[in-house]
Amino acid sequence: MSNLEQSAVVEQSPARELAEGPGHATGADWLARYSSSLMGVFGTPQRVLVRGAGCLVWDADGKEYLDLLGGIAVNALGHAHPFVTSVIASQLATLGHVSNFFTSPTQIALAEKLLALSKAPAGSKVFFTNSGTEANEAAFKLARRNSDGPGGARTRIIALEGAFHGRTMGALALTAKEAYRAPFEPMPGGVEHIPFGDIEALRNAVDHTVAAVFLEPIQGEAGVRPLPAGYLKAAREVTSAAGALLILDEVQTGIGRTGKWLASEDAGIVPDAVTLAKGLGGGFPIGALVTFGPETSSLLTAGQHGTTFGGNPVATAAALATLHALENQHVLESVRAVGQYIRSALAAVDGVTEVRGEGLLIGFDLDADVAPAVVTAGLDAGFIINSPGPRTIRLAPPLILTEEQADRFLAALPAILQTAKEAQ
Ligand SMILES: *Cc1c(COP(=O)(O)O)cnc(C)c1O
Repeated sequence: MSNLEQSAVVEQSPARELAEGPGHATGADWLARYSSSLMGVFGTPQRVLVRGAGCLVWDADGKEYLDLLGGIAVNALGHAHPFVTSVIASQLATLGHVSNFFTSPTQIALAEKLLALSKAPAGSKVFFTNSGTEANEAAFKLARRNSDGPGGARTRIIALEGAFHGRTMGALALTAKEAYRAPFEPMPGGVEHIPFGDIEALRNAVDHTVAAVFLEPIQGEAGVRPLPAGYLKAAREVTSAAGALLILDEVQTGIGRTGKWLASEDAGIVPDAVTLAKGLGGGFPIGALVTFGPETSSLLTAGQHGTTFGGNPVATAAALATLHALENQHVLESVRAVGQYIRSALAAVDGVTEVRGEGLLIGFDLDADVAPAVVTAGLDAGFIINSPGPRTIRLAPPLILTEEQADRFLAALPAILQTAKEAQ
């Protein structure tokens, strides 16, 4: 056990007592209550989780899991990180919420910190949200404000096949997956999806009628699919020439996930905007739209966008603490090393046909359509993993995952794959 895991703050929170009442509820009891009270959009939850510490979580029946999904790339510092937890609690006890009629020190300092980490030029700005989809909604509105082209209005927005940008209507219009979109048509207009990673298709699509191009440096939901080398650079050239905004969705890839602050930072480009969320608050809900340079940063003017909760003192304190801890504990170096270690080991596992990703955003393909069964077998064996596709497994563990913890999973994986194949 690492120090972090030993310093779990509380065994059982007062909130659990409020939820549970007298007596003890088993996982099955909770799931019965769940299915009669929660909307069915997530299907049946895999487990009822009650406690976490570092990279470990426990379910309502006391079973322990190594969390290799981290709340889908969210719990950057694992669960119940002592520093982040204490900063959140003390901020809440000092000043929890104001409104955007006011500001607070943590909000301002976090904006400054994000601009510094993203090496944004002078005149760059930040807008805070509560989630990734809201960050992309803000970016969508930003794109709409880039409306004047030399030949008339810029009405088109380009995104990629396989793209996932969120579930609210604007972000959903940017999302490619038919099953997510079709029930909710008509979509907000003007979005076109072009083939993934195809620079020629991008060149053909982008002209002065395009307001923006949205890209994920690595498509997470599509199974951890990185853009080919040179694509971001080409996209920057094409969008600059056409006067279109280049907007990078780093909701999943940002904040150290790939071993860099931004997955795009080595691409040698300056985008017009970047969206962030998932890992930013270390588990606390917060998102951000960062706009690069004075021109893009002044597209949205006073009154044109807003939020009640976005950028509140607690969320921004959580993010400030998370970024501080990531820096001070030199977590990004470890992310690069442990990620490389896992990918090399995975490539040698029988039944694994391809390994992708960077840092601790890892996808691997299997030689059969058994990924959902692998997730189930993984849970039974005490590991939380995810299947974004029928034969693809995704790992997005806390960034503090150690090689020893990774070894536990790697050692168990052949048996998990075997169990899954037998269950088919
Ligand atoms: C998760 C995700 C989103 C949506 O974020 P939410 O917080 O779920 O709204 C958007 N874009 C990408 C790339 C994501 O991975």
